[in-house]
Formats: sequence, structure tokens, C-alpha cells
Amino acid sequence: MKDYKFNNPARRNPAYRDIGGLYDIYLRSERNRLANLNRANAYLKAVMVFPNYYGVAMSNLGFLRAYELINRSGFMSCDRAFMQDDLSKGVISLETRRRLKDYDFIFFSLSYENDFVNILSILSAEKIPFLSKDRNENFPLIMAGGVIAFLNPEPVAPIFDLMFIGEAEAIFPDFFEKIKSKNKPDKYEIINSSAGIKGIYVPSEYDFIFDPKNPYILNEIKIANGFPKRVARRWTDENLSFSSSVITTEFSELSNINMIEIERGCKRGCRFCSAGFIYLPLRESTIDAVNEAISATGENEKAGFVGFGTMDGKNIAKIMRFSLDSGRNFSLSSVRFDCLDENNLDMIKESGIKTVTIGIETGSERLKKMLNKVLSNENIITSVGDIVKRGITGIKLYFMFGLPYENKDDMDDTVKLVKTILKEFISASKANKRIGKLTASFSPFVPKAWTPLQWENFEDLKILRKKASYIANGLRNMPNLDVNINSLNAAFTEAFFARGSRLSTDILVYSFLNKTSIKKAAEDKGLRMDGFIRKIGTGELLPWDIIDQGVTKRYLLEEYKRALNLKTTPQCFEGCKRCGVCA
Ligand code: SF4
Repeated sequence: MKDYKFNNPARRNPAYRDIGGLYDIYLRSERNRLANLNRANAYLKAVMVFPNYYGVAMSNLGFLRAYELINRSGFMSCDRAFMQDDLSKGVISLETRRRLKDYDFIFFSLSYENDFVNILSILSAEKIPFLSKDRNENFPLIMAGGVIAFLNPEPVAPIFDLMFIGEAEAIFPDFFEKIKSKNKPDKYEIINSSAGIKGIYVPSEYDFIFDPKNPYILNEIKIANGFPKRVARRWTDENLSFSSSVITTEFSELSNINMIEIERGCKRGCRFCSAGFIYLPLRESTIDAVNEAISATGENEKAGFVGFGTMDGKNIAKIMRFSLDSGRNFSLSSVRFDCLDENNLDMIKESGIKTVTIGIETGSERLKKMLNKVLSNENIITSVGDIVKRGITGIKLYFMFGLPYENKDDMDDTVKLVKTILKEFISASKANKRIGKLTASFSPFVPKAWTPLQWENFEDLKILRKKASYIANGLRNMPNLDVNINSLNAAFTEAFFARGSRLSTDILVYSFLNKTSIKKAAEDKGLRMDGFIRKIGTGELLPWDIIDQGVTKRYLLEEYKRALNLKTTPQCFEGCKRCGVCA
């Protein structure tokens, strides 16, 4: 679960409990590469809102990228706003302390389903009606983008006037042309004319009809004249996809790290991973662009290499070498055991990295095939030894449980793998004369839209609790091992929204207004939570079918069948056309 209070100085110094004082500290802490940007000709006011706290927002490269692009438009100046502890006096922006409702445009950046409730908190504090249909021309144009906006927009779609389906670099240029009129922006003119822009979704023009006898089933999507039958995702080519932090601060979750995007998309095809499908195809940033960003990394900063498979890129060794040779230590967002050759490990060590984070998912060979993430347990164990012998003494391993068709043997395999890794970890540590810390984190599997496992159910909470206890008991009192079981309730809420529909919006709003849980809100509306987390029929119309991600439903279904038959699928390759993304 997110720590909403992360790095908030108000927690440490009561003098800064006032939001203005807190924002002064944040601004003073920032190294802002846009500080000298001339905004003299900017005649429209925009604000980027992140529905979580400052520290979380500032570690989000997508949020910073959109903020940069809007400010570079020339005709808009863009401020930032966040979730606040005290909402009693409304929501103000960081830079100009203007109230949100006084902007021409409000852009929400959506990255986590569990932040949806914060969208309502923010709108409520500004006395802005929640739903687009209830706001007249006196309210700003309210839009949303970000990974959650284009994965499955439906649980929050009725809130927004427009949603961006795809990557900002690709959609913004056409959209900015539409809105740059010098007159006061005509909200309705913009909404209506946006239908012609690829990558823009106007939720008010789509009517979702549910089965009156079984409201969890979507019968039909009615579309207003002139609006696309499906909204196509838009993505950039390799040269435009590159980004790095325009602002760094010690108060970010990634304190003083200059995030540098070294690739977008992932070629591996892990069947549980939504990002792996909706950011296809894999695009690597050019080595010149990455090296330039490394050179711009400040003295008290680190270069943070960001990507879905950070070490998959063909240039990663050269990039790490350049960073070290230019005197900048680096960090990696994640690593894969099969990318850790001796040369890479030496550079990771040289950079002073003390802990590496690796997703293993399961110790069961059977379930690994189902997930299409096949790393042999032998390789994992050997790699742990190699890492520790290099003097990297912290290893964090990520696992899932509650996976489809998971049985006791599968969980035993995972527990056994952790124990064997720990044994190797301790044995290899002896050479260092110091034993570090091995951490095993377990999260419930959440089926996500646009993955081959999207049709599977989220495990029943009672069974999940039993499974969590079984794993925790199996690894109890092991020296040098920390075991974290992530919040089951948070995963349940995430699962409710991840494959939600406009019924989820009703439940979200009701729950907020009545200060009650999502579960109770659903019950009050005559609905059952298990209707939202159930196994879905492969022939059903899905709320997120309104989006055309490029990846075809036919391909996802083929991959789903292969998963059930425990057949793996090779990663993307030159000349491949199988999923529909590459023309
Ligand atoms: S068509 Fe093939 S190479 Fe292209 S993104 Fe899909 S799986 Fe990868």
C-alpha cells in the first residue's frame, strides 16, 4: 500500500502543518530544469493534478513529463497540485497557490486505481461537481491521462470531460492545436471537436447498457454520431518517447534521483502484466539522449534508469559505463536475473547499489509457465550467490499469491525456493564477513484489463487470508529474512476498479458521499462485490473494449489458452506481427 505521508516535512515539524509553509519547503528543495522557461506569452492557465501526495507524484515520470510538455506548449503555463492533508480551505497549486477551480484546464494524472477516491476528495474540496454531466461552462475543462486512464478508463470515465488514450507526446500536439485559441476556451466546442483527434476519448458520448437481469454483464455500448466506435491508443516513435525528470527533490519517494527513461514497452509478454501489453511495442531511447540526461544529472543526484525491463535494452551496459565514467552513480528500477552477467554486476557494485529488487512471482515451475515468466529456480539461486559475492548485501524479491489454479504444492514450491535462496544468500555472505538482508514480499494477484489473464477472477478474500498465513508460517523465524505480505484489502479495492465499469463510478461516488466502504456502498445499491471480481466469460463484451490498444482481443485470448495449457510464448522478435501492434 502507498504511504501517503511519505517524506512529508509537516510530519516532522509542526511549524509546517500549514499547506503554504509546506509548499514553500518543497519549492526550495527543487531543482527545476524548467525554471528559466519563458512563459511570458502563455495566456491560458493549466494545472496538473496528481491524486496522491507530493512525494509520490514527484517520483512519477509520466506526471513530470506531461507537466513539462504543457509548459513547453508556449501558450499555457502549468502548475502542479496534489492531495493535501487539510482540504478544508480547498486545493491550491504548488507554484502560484491558485485554487483549482480558477484554472482554464485541469489535467489529472492517474497511475493507481486506489487513488480514485482522492480524485473525489480533491473535487469535493473545490466544490466542483463530480460528474462531467453536472458541470456547466463555468467550470474548467477537466481531463485525465496516465496509465490507468488508458488501461481501463471506465470506473472514472463519467468524471472527466476528456481522457487521453495513450502517450502524451503523441496526443498533445494535435490537442494543443485545438485549444490554443486566444479567446476564453469554449469547453463544449473543445469537447465536441476532440472527437476527430486520435487518442481522445469523450466519455459523455458513450452510453453503457448493462443487462437488467445481471448488471455485471455489459450488453451494449451506444455511441453518439461522429464519435469513434473504439478509441485507438496513440503512441510515439523511439525518438519522441524519451523523457527524464524535469524536477528533482529530496522529498520525492525517489529522493534526488534524476529518472531517465531508457526504454518504453517490454518485449517479454508476462501474462499478468498490463504495462507489458499496453505500452507495446518496445522502444529504446537513443544512447545520445540518455547520455545527455546523465550528463545533466546534478552533483548531489543519482541517475535512475527507468523502464519495464530496465536491463533488457541493447545499450544498458554502455549506459551504465558512461554514467560511472562521468562520475554519476546510478540506480535501476528493477533487474532480471537473466540479465546479470559479470560485467553488469561489477558496474552495479561500482555504482554503490546496496540492494537489488527482482520480481520472481512464484517458485512453482507450473505457474511460471502459466505466467510466461520462466526463470529456472537453479538460475535464480546461482544468481543470488553471484550478487552477494560481489558485496551487494540486500536483495528484495517479489512474489505473487492467489494466482489462478494455484494449489498447496505451488505455495510449497515458493516457500521452498525462498528458503533455498536464503541458504545460498547466507552462505555467499560469509565471503563478505557480513550477512545482509533478504526480503521476500508477497502481493495478491490482481487480474488486469488488457492482459491474457484478464478473464480470471481475483481470489476470494477468505482464501487469500489463509494463503497469506500459510506462506507467513512457512517462512516464520528465518534469520536474515524479512517477509512482507502486502495489504489484502488494498488489493481487493484495486481488483474492484481494475476491471470495473461505470457501475463502479456509482459505487465510488456513493461510498464517498456516505463515508462508507466500497463493499457497503455496493450492497446498498443492491450489488455484490463478487460480481466485480469474478471470472469473466471469454465471449463477454468488456467495458474496456471501448479502447483499441493495438493488441487484439483475439491475441489475448490465444495467450490465455496457452496459459491454461501451460505453454510459454517467445518474446517479441524482428518481423513478428502476431499481436496486432506492429504493422
Ligand atoms: S507484433 Fe510481435 S513484436 Fe510487435 S509488439 Fe506484438 S508481439 Fe511484440
